[in-house]
Amino acid sequence: MANDTVKIPDSFSDARITPDTYRQMYERSIQDPQGFWADEARRLDWIAAPAKISDVSFDKDDLHIRWFEDGVLNACVNCIDRHLETRGNKTALIWEGDNPAYHHAITYRQLFNHVCRFANELKLIGVKKGDRVTIHMPMIPEAVYAMLACARLGAVHSVVFGGFSPDAIAGRIDDCGSDFVITADQGVRGGKGIPLKDNVDRAIERANHEVRGVLVVKHTGAQVDFVAGRDHWHHELALEVDARCEAEPMKAEDPLFILYTSGSTGKPKGVLHTTGGYMVWAAMTHDYTFDHREEDVFWCTADVGWVTGHTYIVYGPLANGATSLMFEGVPTWPGPDRFWRVVAKHRVTTLYTAPTAIRALMREGDEPVKKHDRSSLRLLGSVGEPINPEAWRWYHEVVGEGRCPIVDTWWQTETGGHLITALPGAHALKPGAASFPMFGIQPALVDNEGNRLPDEGEQEGNLVLLGSWPGQMRTVYGDHQRFYETYFATYPGTYFTGDGARRDADGYWWITGRVDDVLNISGHRLGTAEVESALVAHDLVAEAAVVGYPHEVKGQGIYCYVTLNSGLVPTEETEAALKAQVRSEIGAIATPDVIHFTPSLPKTRSGKIMRRILRKIAEGEFDKLGDTSTLADPDVVDSLIETRREMG
Ligand code: ATP
Ligand code: MG
Repeated sequence: MANDTVKIPDSFSDARITPDTYRQMYERSIQDPQGFWADEARRLDWIAAPAKISDVSFDKDDLHIRWFEDGVLNACVNCIDRHLETRGNKTALIWEGDNPAYHHAITYRQLFNHVCRFANELKLIGVKKGDRVTIHMPMIPEAVYAMLACARLGAVHSVVFGGFSPDAIAGRIDDCGSDFVITADQGVRGGKGIPLKDNVDRAIERANHEVRGVLVVKHTGAQVDFVAGRDHWHHELALEVDARCEAEPMKAEDPLFILYTSGSTGKPKGVLHTTGGYMVWAAMTHDYTFDHREEDVFWCTADVGWVTGHTYIVYGPLANGATSLMFEGVPTWPGPDRFWRVVAKHRVTTLYTAPTAIRALMREGDEPVKKHDRSSLRLLGSVGEPINPEAWRWYHEVVGEGRCPIVDTWWQTETGGHLITALPGAHALKPGAASFPMFGIQPALVDNEGNRLPDEGEQEGNLVLLGSWPGQMRTVYGDHQRFYETYFATYPGTYFTGDGARRDADGYWWITGRVDDVLNISGHRLGTAEVESALVAHDLVAEAAVVGYPHEVKGQGIYCYVTLNSGLVPTEETEAALKAQVRSEIGAIATPDVIHFTPSLPKTRSGKIMRRILRKIAEGEFDKLGDTSTLADPDVVDSLIETRREMG
């Protein structure tokens, strides 16, 4: 595969982190973690500054992770109150509605007033420190007020993405024993209303745990049912409460939030993050990875229902006093140029999005991008899946006009924030490489038997992390045993990420995909990401997903699901051309056995391809698809099964 590098542009010669500072700081973070983290902790405002830095054990019988244990702080105060003196009139949030005519800006002073009132409303309905509060909201500023209001009171929020079904919401209410729900009458995406309150009503009916109070934000004015005594309108309570609300002093290890993982691999887990370590990690990574500047307009396109939205719409940017843009809509509505229209309208400097969105926008061609002014952009980011080099180049050359570095950030819900990423002023870029570890992060590779692979030279294997970092999850909510089994039992003494990786001869890290997805073709290990990238590199292909299936001769065969660009239909010539393409890019060993053309792929609601389900379909095991509750569009599965049956 092409391994061309892109140099650090001159515009980043004065970046926060340069090649030299990266080396020095990384070295110090490993050699002198006490000193390094004591310094980094100072980026927060503490009520009591921490003297103890960390206390960690990954042992089976004594698994515990504690950072800044004797520190006391409040996350909400760090995101709002401490900025009031110097940034009171600075825009904290820019809200861009689904309907392009609707948008507004909220200053730090206004954010303070909204969040204090919201917190007082929660108190009024009975929310107390330590209570779990489920938030099921559209992408509107009130979602941020709700999260920060919980943090202000010391209540633990569990944000459940607005696209989830009543059953999925009910399961999450039960799992964390949530007495309260915050929602809105409706959400709007691509012009269509989403019945959030109705879904919450049905979820509460189905849940075993009794919900005592529901706070409802009026967004579209749709007719909704109201249960007397249980349901409350936000705009009505807002009139009854004070505009000042004291913040609860929290210990660093008090829980901040629970977030259920997106479910690409199985039953969602309640990932628990605590206050001090998470906030240090969120603020630090937002600052360094995005080379944060005071005048930046930072746009993370994720939903607040995912960890990316938690860390890089809310906690990271606001802790740094940044201007964070929040977008209610979808990338291609009302037209294929919506993203670029938003960039031009709000003079976005930093755009952070996912490969799934980049591939979808690339399908629409260059014209929708080029007709909008992108001169404000200085940095681009990617997160969520490996980015195919082809999509990377389009993002770099067409979107970023070749000027803007791309930070490909590898991390997980479990890790709180970035763990492996390029820093724009520190590293030359290789398209498709996650690049280098964040400060304090020690990635390592192990083989399937658990042997450590050498730290020198080119290596490929299972990605583990040696030691802890402040943003690491602390447990699976209510199931510490599952926490151990999932992450620490496979390779004892290390945190196992579940992902495979390659470190190249220059020390760059490449994520090869989930370990469960690795192909074994006649004894050769192949990452799904590599084959997919070879397919996507073909002019006609928009997206591809590759899985293995039992093959008499090779052990495993290569089964490729392929989506062509807008408006194209497959032919036998296309199929032959794609096989030839993979053979020439990777080698004969990687030649696809089956190409299954499909207009779309099954994805999680966060936009990730669900290879687990595709594998079952390829194997013909249609009744063993497992949990499909987190699929964005379940109909795709039926049509894939039908085609698979026809293919025999
Ligand atoms: P679940 O854990 O419930 O199966 P999930 O793993 O999709 O769901 P997330 O925590 O949102 O939930 O995603 C983390 C995973 O996404 C990583 O483990 C990795 O597989 C993939 N990923 C995220 N960012 C990148 C990236 N920049 N490059 C490659 N892979 C990435
Ligand atoms: Mg995961």
